[in-house]
Amino acid sequence: MEKHSRELDLFAFTITWIIFKTLSGGIMAKVYFASARAKKWKYDDSMPGKLEGLLKEIGLMNYFSPEEWVAVKTHFGSEGAHRIVRPIFLRKVVDALKRIGAMPFVTDTVRIKGLDYLEVANQNGINHLSVNAPVILSDGIYGNDNIMVKAGEILGEIAVASVIHDVPAMVVCSHIKGHINAGYAGAIKNLAMGGVSSSHRTCGWKCGRGSMHTIGEGELAWDAEKCELCYQCKDICPLDAINFKDDELVWEGDICWRCGRCERVCQSESLSLPGDDERFMRSLAEAAGAVISTFEQKKIIYINFLTEIQPECDCMPAADVPVIQDLGILISDDMVSVEQASIDMLLEASPLPASLASDKKIAEGDDILMKLHNRAYLLQLEEAERLGLGSRKYEIVEI
Ligand code: SF4
Ligand code: SF4
Repeated sequence: MEKHSRELDLFAFTITWIIFKTLSGGIMAKVYFASARAKKWKYDDSMPGKLEGLLKEIGLMNYFSPEEWVAVKTHFGSEGAHRIVRPIFLRKVVDALKRIGAMPFVTDTVRIKGLDYLEVANQNGINHLSVNAPVILSDGIYGNDNIMVKAGEILGEIAVASVIHDVPAMVVCSHIKGHINAGYAGAIKNLAMGGVSSSHRTCGWKCGRGSMHTIGEGELAWDAEKCELCYQCKDICPLDAINFKDDELVWEGDICWRCGRCERVCQSESLSLPGDDERFMRSLAEAAGAVISTFEQKKIIYINFLTEIQPECDCMPAADVPVIQDLGILISDDMVSVEQASIDMLLEASPLPASLASDKKIAEGDDILMKLHNRAYLLQLEEAERLGLGSRKYEIVEI
């Protein structure tokens, strides 16, 4: 099915949103919540059962139509990062969409070579058989099938994955965790990093997610003095853009996506891409806004899974143990509200022992996100609200 007429630019989208909120009297968005605790030994008290309950509560028919294609956007993880949104939850979303006659598929954008990434999804349990729907790459197996969309002051334009650009409706399934640059990663980051491509056919990384990670020419700097020659940067690079010759790092800037993975895995801080965390967080909000601007109003719902909340991104080569106990699942049609509600719950939770939280001596009542990565993580939400992508005020409805 064709996507309806679209591509409101972000400015038009913002004005529409402000008018909508004004006319609706600034109604706080509802965020539906189900706790991870199972207090009775019956299916309805399980997390998959509660997810079904949440999907009924929000009313999928309010957003999606029979015979409408619906993207179920998730992150496939990496070969070593298994703590993602579990396939059973994706399956429950798919089945609920099918029950109302919609036509769902599960998708993510290319992070490593496309076919390898589908194999990662398969190894992490996400395949057609497990989720009961096709599992596809939103920007093609080369990761350069995308469409430029207006973003904002920082990014100008950004390459939105063509499938996400064209599909009329979407369920954004986000695994909540920490992040080395953003402090917190949820729906905004899932849309921003996950809704755009690494590279564009003509303008390369400068039009893709690398433009959020870095600035200017994005020259990767290497400090030979600090380098321990562990070769983790070379091993993690999805494009073989890093090699070593006579113990000297050789970087191929022409093919590099500026994904920043080499910089993040380097334990000795020998590598750096130019850029700063404040710009990174604001550009996440801009890119998320660009993705949202390709949908009509009320065609996206957001599901945040506060489960296996580990300190780092799902694209890293390993997942550490959770720093907070599983809290539950949140659903809303307001991206900023569901993010704020998720963060508020994380801040009220108790840090877990034998985790990075205890290594860092984070105590109950501390701002765990700030203490893990020392990043002003709320900037992404503040900027998203400023851009009219939702409200930080919300009302929790627990089922
Ligand atoms: S930023 Fe680093 S890991 Fe990413 S493509 Fe470039 S060299 Fe490879
Ligand atoms: S990851 Fe860092 S320390 Fe290891 S080889 Fe690369 S630059 Fe050197």
